Amino acid sequence: MAEATPGEVTMEKIVSLCQRRGFIFPSSEIYGGLSSLWDYGPLGVELKQNVKQAWWRTTVQERDDMVGLDTSILMHPKVWEASGHLKQFTDPLVECKQCHLRWRPDELKDNNCPSCGGELTDPHLFNLMFKTSMGPVEEEASVAYLRPETAQGIFVNFQNVLNTTRKRLPFGIAQMGKAFRNEITTGNFIFRCREFEQMEIEYFVKPETADEWFNYWLEERRNWYVKLGIKAENLRLRPHTEEELAHYARQCSDIDYQFPMGWAELEGIANRGDYDLTQHAKHSGKSLNYHDEETNEHFVPYIIEPSAGVDRSVLALLCDAYTEEMAEGELRTLLHLHPTLAPIKVALLPLSKKGNLMEFASQIYTDLRQCWMVQFDTTQSIGRRYRRQDEIGTPFCVTIDFQSLEDNQVTIRERDSMNQIRIPIAVLKETLTAKLAGEELFVLPPGGQIWKEEKKE
Ligand code: ATP
Repeated sequence: MAEATPGEVTMEKIVSLCQRRGFIFPSSEIYGGLSSLWDYGPLGVELKQNVKQAWWRTTVQERDDMVGLDTSILMHPKVWEASGHLKQFTDPLVECKQCHLRWRPDELKDNNCPSCGGELTDPHLFNLMFKTSMGPVEEEASVAYLRPETAQGIFVNFQNVLNTTRKRLPFGIAQMGKAFRNEITTGNFIFRCREFEQMEIEYFVKPETADEWFNYWLEERRNWYVKLGIKAENLRLRPHTEEELAHYARQCSDIDYQFPMGWAELEGIANRGDYDLTQHAKHSGKSLNYHDEETNEHFVPYIIEPSAGVDRSVLALLCDAYTEEMAEGELRTLLHLHPTLAPIKVALLPLSKKGNLMEFASQIYTDLRQCWMVQFDTTQSIGRRYRRQDEIGTPFCVTIDFQSLEDNQVTIRERDSMNQIRIPIAVLKETLTAKLAGEELFVLPPGGQIWKEEKKE
């Protein structure tokens, strides 16, 4: 068998790690899975929640000019008429006359079906919205759609928020939640799903300041990914060309990430002008004007929309964090995740199951899990246990040995450097708090000492 050596990040490796360690599974797997639908496992749900929390914190919690919202997935059908989704939310499609699979013409190499080589139909437009019906009788009048984006819930609540929060321009409304699109081309794991989650900001501004705010949000959103640990060289801003621009957008730029399959959109930032509020005012008959008390003007605000995908962010973060390296003559796989995002913050590892070490360790476990997601792992060698935690991105392992029973000290081992310090249990919680917030491992608490410095090869 060929010796394992560190290699490049591939989608196969990410998918394999996600399934093996319980981050992400195919939906309805025991029935063979369902195309482009995924379930988040025990570690995946933690990672995803941490991404959403990080977004909410920077977007809503830490800002005076933003408020949050959580609107329903099913909305009045007129919303989709007004927004243009019923008419415009379509992709051209060709169908194979033989196997009936459908394809996007712009993704075909030639005029034959990529699956069976059969002849293809002329393109026709295909609406990406999922249709359902409300109420007991299935008829045209009861048609409803699963929302293909969370944004419309924000637009239709503009006046409600304005009236109840007394916010003045410029201000924004943020929402996270599920969206559904009957995508034609799928694949690339969770990059393009039929059910996914979005994190959207609708930022309302005076029309003459829209360009300024558009540039502000480009920078702000790009920096958010960098702060969460994504390498700056794996991100780029890509302005849309005239032809690409959506019908409602005055200006649009994508934040692309260099995924293993190439550069692709992570987030879209658009200057939507006054399109949305004007459309909803027209179709609902309700005024969605803003009254500027200083100038006594009434006008429709412009909207800057930074629209991100939770699942795509999770995928980009996993790809960026995935690292293989040689350590002590062995291949070590680690997820170099930012501590804020790591599903498990601390692993507690008693060196032996003997004596009263387990009981001693489990007391510390009970105490620490009040603060963080902590794992208690007692099986196999300590080396194996460290590797298991490295692979799921746990920033710190706390080892308890027989000496701990005597000196009330434990060892903290850090994921990336594999360096270790020994500290009194009395200061364990505050030390971990400081380290998880980014303090260097070798800044020692009272009574702490550098225990061992493993040199990386
Ligand atoms: P694409 O061109 O890749 O289909 P889009 O331009 O249609 O994306 P937007 O409508 O701008 O996407 O949606 C905003 C964000 O929502 C995207 O940047 C992406 O992160 C996320 N998103 C959109 N569609 C999907 C999907 N099918 N699966 C996962 N995330 C999605």
